[in-house]
Amino acid sequence: MRVGCGYDSHRWAVDRKLILGGVVIPFELGLMGHSDADALTHAICDALLGAISEGDIGFHFPDTDPVFSGISSLKLLEAVNGMIRKKGLAIDYIDSTVIMERPRLRPYIPDMKSALAGVLKLPFDRINIKAKTNEGMGFVGRQEGIAAFAVAAVKESSD
Ligand code: MG
Repeated sequence: MRVGCGYDSHRWAVDRKLILGGVVIPFELGLMGHSDADALTHAICDALLGAISEGDIGFHFPDTDPVFSGISSLKLLEAVNGMIRKKGLAIDYIDSTVIMERPRLRPYIPDMKSALAGVLKLPFDRINIKAKTNEGMGFVGRQEGIAAFAVAAVKESSD
């Protein structure tokens, strides 16, 4: 069993969509970024890359490359899963936490889990997403941006 951890943060921005876990969440602000700025999916990608000793998302998908401009982060996640499979490994479990003051994420978590599990071809119960506020503290509390953490476990593939 190999384990990796991932972290990401993005600033709030006007005239951008809020996309987390591949799901568009209705809100007056979105997140700034070169891709779709899906901080949750980025943290999960980094956790997975960490578990297979493959550096980080910025190394594989640099934000200086126009190919990745506005790209759906689910495409990056799919590419990371391809790297895992190529090594004869498979994702066992992913846990994650999104930290933001607004909006309430809970109603969207089932759709986010479905989107991520669908891309990774994982059973729904192999992914967990938790949503928290930062109790008004720090950059998240001041609503300058959001943060996401993820842990991933990867095992030898059985197929
Ligand atoms: Mg990011």
